[in-house]
Amino acid sequence: MNKIYLKRGKEESLKRFHPWVFSGAIAKVEGSPEEGRLIDVYTSDNTFIARGHIQIGSIAVRVLTFDENEKIDYEFWKRRLQIAYNMRRSIGLLNRKDNNIYRLVHGEGDNLPGLVIDIYGKTAVMQAHSPGMHFERFAITNALAEIMDKEIENIYYKSETTLPYKAELGQENGFLLGGHKDNIATEYGLKFHIDWLKGQKTGFFVDQRENRSLLEKYSKGRNVLNMFCYTGGFSVYAMRGGASLVHSVDSSAKAIELTNQNMALNFPNDCRHKAYAEDAFKYLERMDDVYDLIILDPPAFAKHRSALHNALQGYRKINAKAFEKIRPGGILFTFSCSQAVNKEQFRMAVFTAAALAKRKVRVLHQLTQPADHPVNIYHPEGEYLKGLVLYVE
Ligand code: SAH
Repeated sequence: MNKIYLKRGKEESLKRFHPWVFSGAIAKVEGSPEEGRLIDVYTSDNTFIARGHIQIGSIAVRVLTFDENEKIDYEFWKRRLQIAYNMRRSIGLLNRKDNNIYRLVHGEGDNLPGLVIDIYGKTAVMQAHSPGMHFERFAITNALAEIMDKEIENIYYKSETTLPYKAELGQENGFLLGGHKDNIATEYGLKFHIDWLKGQKTGFFVDQRENRSLLEKYSKGRNVLNMFCYTGGFSVYAMRGGASLVHSVDSSAKAIELTNQNMALNFPNDCRHKAYAEDAFKYLERMDDVYDLIILDPPAFAKHRSALHNALQGYRKINAKAFEKIRPGGILFTFSCSQAVNKEQFRMAVFTAAALAKRKVRVLHQLTQPADHPVNIYHPEGEYLKGLVLYVE
């Protein structure tokens, strides 16, 4: 087995079960480990501390186990997937009539760093974010097929855009099991076309499920603007909640097409809904003050810490526009999914925006990701989705 020795004192975070080894913590590499292969991590005084996948970049190792005796073999994948599956069952997400969309594996949150698996009815969409998980894709597929034998028929692998392209892994998207193209799944009784072939993430933003459901409760009789609508998730819930009108906006024409498709699945020929392909900043600038429920769910403005300043400015700018235009008595659902922006920074950006627009604002709810996107307590970075529901006087 290849080995990494840490610099003195750099084992502290691993002792607290944090699942990453940063490249700066490494003193010496023994052997010639290829990217994506297994490696054992030792402290400076030659004690085993972790085993994981090695990769090139600032995160050098993603830890799979802290137990020297635990082998990373087929049984390992089966065990970890079974734990993830049991957890979803115990929180009531399995075998429901009204919902067959959920996240089965959430990377570090399920002690499987670099792996994401979302379930859409009879299809699991699997995504590797590390070369290590890419190499294990067949073992993971087999283990998953065994565990979910009765529930799923297809496993689609979608890692073309999530793996470092420099690793030249020759990855292709495609089915590793089955091949059914039926892609309509159900979230809380609403139907959605899941575009796992070309869509963002695994084809749908599963992480907004509970927040969409909350929005439904506030929609009755309101004029709703769903900014950054993507598949139109929030829009469809607003329609069911009895909104007077719903406008969906996204800069991508493909997203608008998806939104219209999903609307047609649930509310065919309902003229309360209109969708516009337009840039958010332009739309917010030119729109009239007709809305009293606005959703702002932008893409991650900061994927890395270096982009933090610009990201915060971006949040201030779009939120300020929303505060400026929202009708008195309006409700704003505002989100950030940037991992590099923490809860406090996001709140400050939003509160500054409210002050700039000189509006009186109260916090009704503080939102986060749902239970099927769990946060490993030893990896607080996993808490990435932040949302505020605000009442604007
Ligand atoms: N709210 C959605 C997810 C939003 S993802 C849901 O619940 O599923 C972010 C979306 O923002 C993407 O669809 C992307 O096309 C869109 N987007 C990115 N930059 C934009 C811009 N400048 N103006 C409008 N939309 C933008």
